Amino acid sequence: MSSSIPRSLSALNITFLGTASAQPSSTRNHSSLALRLSNHVWLFDCGEATQHRIQQSTVKMGKIEKVFITHTHGDHIFGLLPLLASRLNGAGGTAEGVDDPRSQLGGHQEPLEIYGPLGTRAYVRNGLAYTHTLLSGPYVVHELRFPSNPAEGDFTALPLHASESPDGRNIAQINGVWENFYKNDLVSVSAAPILHSVPCLGFVVNESPVPGKMEPKKYINDIKRTKTPMSIMTRLQQGESVELSDGTVLHGPARRPGRKIVILGDTYDPSPIARLATGADVLIHEATNAHLPGIDPHTKEEDTFESVEARAKSRGHSTPQMAGAFAKHIGARKLVMNHFSARYAGNDDVNEESKKVMTAIAELAAEQYQGGLVCARDFLSFDVELSQ
Ligand SMILES: [Zn+2]
Ligand SMILES: [Zn+2]
Repeated sequence: MSSSIPRSLSALNITFLGTASAQPSSTRNHSSLALRLSNHVWLFDCGEATQHRIQQSTVKMGKIEKVFITHTHGDHIFGLLPLLASRLNGAGGTAEGVDDPRSQLGGHQEPLEIYGPLGTRAYVRNGLAYTHTLLSGPYVVHELRFPSNPAEGDFTALPLHASESPDGRNIAQINGVWENFYKNDLVSVSAAPILHSVPCLGFVVNESPVPGKMEPKKYINDIKRTKTPMSIMTRLQQGESVELSDGTVLHGPARRPGRKIVILGDTYDPSPIARLATGADVLIHEATNAHLPGIDPHTKEEDTFESVEARAKSRGHSTPQMAGAFAKHIGARKLVMNHFSARYAGNDDVNEESKKVMTAIAELAAEQYQGGLVCARDFLSFDVELSQ
């Protein structure tokens, strides 16, 4: 093997920037979450005012490299244009006769990458064009096309925006999914359709296998006897085999599976993603509506668990029990629910009423699922640890 050492992620962190469904409230913003991979930031969904949430959080705007959009409902995408304008130092142009340096894209800056379903590219291009927004860096939109979508074309008659890279891909589904549509040395990303009221995606972020657990004392005698530099430990740690001067071969520990994070958009049935999502370390699943008699004062007298579930499904959404059942089905280690109705305030860390409601929601999911269970609130942030 070459001496180049595969890098691994120094940190894997999830920060919720918005956890509201249709209407935001003073305690919950529209959908968005930041996934931090070492010091790279990827956003998943970008609802209205996401950039305000970023400013109030520890997520660094300048580190955002990719944005993944689950579906083009406004509560998941309305914040994308202002975010682009801020991230890429946008402006509204200059008076006639004055050159704006932003209109001359120089250098070889990597484009900010946006992935989403059909319509994402047209939405961004039209929005930037009609608001006369100039950007000082490039962006590119890759669309994950469903079988019923046109395979090619941009879905708009407008020409490319000055800052838009022409390299946007139209990525076809294969066997019902978009497996490994993005891949680098450390992670790959796959997607699958999930059922909602409009075309909607779930994403699976898979970390590549990571170095195994090292037991230095297993090697130390051989290394000392052959006067081999201790630096070979670094190679062993990466799982390499190293031959010593006397012919002894030391084998580094086998690599172990990396972490798997599943981030779903809105859904009433995510079963098409089940195969890719199996064994997730973290599953993020919406739980828009819950039946909470005696706890939620807005509960209608005639409602039952069944009627609330039927209503949620008819609008393309899930209850906590449905989220719990899917977490169990795929054997997830941890379930984090989000996308809550405006009825469920998101200040359960400081407010007793809200705490009662969110605890009851978690208990409903726990009827179906016995793993780690959390109701997300805005700014909730946690590291995803390796399972073994
Ligand atoms: Zn939504
Ligand atoms: Zn939606």
